[in-house]
Amino acid sequence: MADERVVGIDLGTTNSLVAYMGTGPSLAHPGEPGKGVHIIPGEDGSNLVPSVVALQPDGQMLVGNAARGVLLTAPSRAVYSVKRLMGRGVDDVREELKIFPFHLAEDLMAGEVMRIKLGERTYTPPEISAQILRQLKRNAERYFGAPVKQAVITVPAYFNDAQRQATKDAGRIAGLEVLRLVNEPTAASLAYGLDKKQNGTIAVYDFGGGTFDISILRLKDGIFEVIATNGDTHLGGDDIDNLLVAVAAEDIAGDLKIDIRQSPEAVQRLRNAVIEAKIALSSVEQAHIEVDLPGGKLYQRTITREMFEQMVLPIVKRTLMPCKQALRDAELTPAEVDEVVLVGGSTRIPLVRRKVEELFGRKPHTELNPDEVVALGAAVQASILSGGTEETKDMLLLDVTPLSLGIEALGGVTAKIIHRNSTIPASATEHFTTGVEGQTSVAIHVLQGEREMAKDCRSLARFDLKGIPPMPAGLPRIEVRFLIDANGILHVSAREQRSNKQAEIDVQPSYGLTDEQVENMILDSFDNAEQDLNARQLIESRNEADTILTALQKGRKSEAWARLSFGEQRRIEDLENKLRIAVSGDDHNPIRRAIDELNEGTMKLAEMMMDAAVGSALRGKNMENTGVEDGPEAPHPIGKAEFQ
Ligand code: ADP
Ligand code: MG
Repeated sequence: MADERVVGIDLGTTNSLVAYMGTGPSLAHPGEPGKGVHIIPGEDGSNLVPSVVALQPDGQMLVGNAARGVLLTAPSRAVYSVKRLMGRGVDDVREELKIFPFHLAEDLMAGEVMRIKLGERTYTPPEISAQILRQLKRNAERYFGAPVKQAVITVPAYFNDAQRQATKDAGRIAGLEVLRLVNEPTAASLAYGLDKKQNGTIAVYDFGGGTFDISILRLKDGIFEVIATNGDTHLGGDDIDNLLVAVAAEDIAGDLKIDIRQSPEAVQRLRNAVIEAKIALSSVEQAHIEVDLPGGKLYQRTITREMFEQMVLPIVKRTLMPCKQALRDAELTPAEVDEVVLVGGSTRIPLVRRKVEELFGRKPHTELNPDEVVALGAAVQASILSGGTEETKDMLLLDVTPLSLGIEALGGVTAKIIHRNSTIPASATEHFTTGVEGQTSVAIHVLQGEREMAKDCRSLARFDLKGIPPMPAGLPRIEVRFLIDANGILHVSAREQRSNKQAEIDVQPSYGLTDEQVENMILDSFDNAEQDLNARQLIESRNEADTILTALQKGRKSEAWARLSFGEQRRIEDLENKLRIAVSGDDHNPIRRAIDELNEGTMKLAEMMMDAAVGSALRGKNMENTGVEDGPEAPHPIGKAEFQ
C-alpha cells in the first residue's frame, strides 16, 4: 500500500489535471519529486489537459491539446464538454444539445445509455471521460516511471448519484480504482488546508470555462458538509470569449467592411487572439490584438483593462445573484462566511476578484492557482487515503457512505434512505405506512447494500416500533429517519406521526466490510440489476393487487356497493377475476394492467368508500383491534409524490 501512488484528478468540463502529494526524496524512487503537493505536467509541459477527445480516421484517440485541432478541422470526430452528459438521459440534456455540438447516436432504445458519435464509432459519456482519465494516468506513469492504479476524482457538489456513478465508471474503464469521489469545493478547501481550522463556514466561488458554481460549506470538527449550492451551468469564460469575438467582428465589419463570419478559420484566429488578450489583461493593463483577415487585410486593436472590464461587467454580475441565493438557502449573511475560496481560471480576472470581495466583505484566497486548486486538493485527499505523510497523517478522513442504507419494506423489497457516496455526516427521512388493517407494530429492518431485494442486502439491525393505535391500513404515517454522524455511526429512528410513538437504534454500518466486499456488492448489483428489478416489480405489483382486492372485499359490504347498478357490479367482478388470475402468474406486466383496469372500473365506488373510511377512522369507530398474530409487518412505502 505504501508503495502505491494514489493521484488526485480534477476531471473538468474545460480542463482536466492530475496532481500528487510527494512524501519527500526517496531512495526507492530516485528522481521522484520531493515533498508537497504539485501538478503533474503532460508531455508538452503544460499542467492543463483540455477535456477534448478526438478519434483519428486510423482509429487513434487523441486527447487534450492534440484533440483541440480536430475540433476545427473535423468537428464530427471530436467532442468537448462531455462532463455535461455524464450520468444523464437524453431527456435531461435537451438544453445542452441546443447549445453544444454533441453528435448523439439516434438509434437509441428508450432508457438506454446515450452514445456519442465520433466518426464511425459511438461511445458512452463515461467511455469518453475514460479517455481523458487514461491520458492523465499516462502522464502520471511517465512522471513516476511506474504504474498508477488508484485515484481520487473530484465532482461538482451538485452531482447526483447517477452522475457520480458515471464518473466512477469512467475511472474503472480507464483502469483506475477510484478510491473516492470528492466534491470540488471540498477539494479546493483542502488544498488551502482549511480543514485544519476544524470549524467554520466557507464559500467556494468557482468560475470556470463553461460553468459557474457557488458552494457554501460548513466545516464541523474537521469534516466538510455542503450546505448549499447554486450557480449557472451555462456561464463561464466561454461567454466572455464569445462576447469579445462578437464585439471584434462588429468592429471589423464597420471599419474594414469584412464579414468575418464568412471564414470559419478567420473566426477561429480571432477567437484565439481575444482569449490571449483576455488572459493577458488579468496581469497587464493593456493587450494588443492582431488578426490576419481574408483578402490580406489585418485587424489591429489595443484593449485596455478598463475597456475589457466595462464589456464583461454584465457577465460577472450574473454570478452574484446565485451567490446571494446560496447564502439565503444556507441562512447566512455574507459576514458570517469565514473564508472565501476562488476556483476556476476565470477568477484570475481582477474584476471578478473585486466583485467577490465586495459581496462577501473579505479578501478571498488566491494564493494557489485557481485552475489547479481542485486537483491539488484531490491529491491531498489521495495522500490521506494512502496512509498519509507527515503532514496529513493527523488529518481526519473526509468520508462518504460506501454503500446505500435503507430498510426492508413490505414484500421484502429494499427502500433506500441514504444513497451510497453521500458525504457524511448525512441524514435523510422517508415516510411509510402500514399494509395491514389495525396493524399496531411495525418491524424496522435496517439494510446496507445496492440490491433491490432485502434478502440480498446486508442486515444491519432490527427493531420494532410498537404501540401504534389500530387504524385502517395506509392511514398511519411512519417517519423513518437515518442519520450517519461524523464517526460513521448510523442512528435510525422511527416515529408514527399521528400517535407520536417512537423507537430508535444505533448501528455501525461499515463495521467488518472490506473494500473488496464493497466492490463486489457494487458489481453484484450491476450483474443482477435486471433480474432484481423484475423480482421487485412482481412483488410490488402483487402487493398493490392485494391492497386493492382487500379494499374491494370491504367495498362489497358497503352501502356504496348497493348503490351501483347490477351491470356496474358485474363489470367490477369481471375485472376482479381478471386481476386474481394475473396475480397467480409471475409477470408483473399483466398484473399492472389488471390493477389499472380495476382501479379505473372502481373509481366511483372508491370515492364513495374513501369518504366513509376516513370519516369513520377520524371518529375512531368501526375499527376492531385485530391484533397482530404473525408478528409485526414491514412498513409500506408511501408514494414520494404524496410527501415532499
Ligand atoms: P473548468 O473547471 O470549467 O474545466 P477552468 O477552471 O480550467 O475550467 O477554467 C477555464 C477558463 O478559465 C477558460 O475560459 C479560460 O479562458 C479561463 N482563464 C484561464 N486563465 C485565465 C486568465 N488568466 N484570465 C482570464 N481567464 C482565464
Ligand atoms: Mg473546474
